[in-house]
Amino acid sequence: MNPAHKSLTLRRRIEEILENGPATIRDISRLAGMSEKDVSSHLPHVDKSLAARGRKLAISPYSCINCGFAFQSKKRFKKPGRCPKCKCERMEEAVFQIEG
Ligand SMILES: [Zn+2]
Repeated sequence: MNPAHKSLTLRRRIEEILENGPATIRDISRLAGMSEKDVSSHLPHVDKSLAARGRKLAISPYSCINCGFAFQSKKRFKKPGRCPKCKCERMEEAVFQIEG
């Protein structure tokens, strides 16, 4: 299988998982059998391909466990390193969900 085709297949797999309900990157990683880093790198493409079909990838953002600061950026697919407010490194997982 060539690399481009393989990426496409992985993205389809991520979409299928999200079709079944909301999931965190950890959930997707476990269900799709790929690393969390790979899931983060595929999500922007999944987002685009959904948008092209008039659907939307909704994100309930990462938030700080300590002070509740929410990372509101819509494109925040990767887990943030630390909270800009209190510098805590423990984050509540973002939850991804397909809308529309
Ligand atoms: Zn914080």
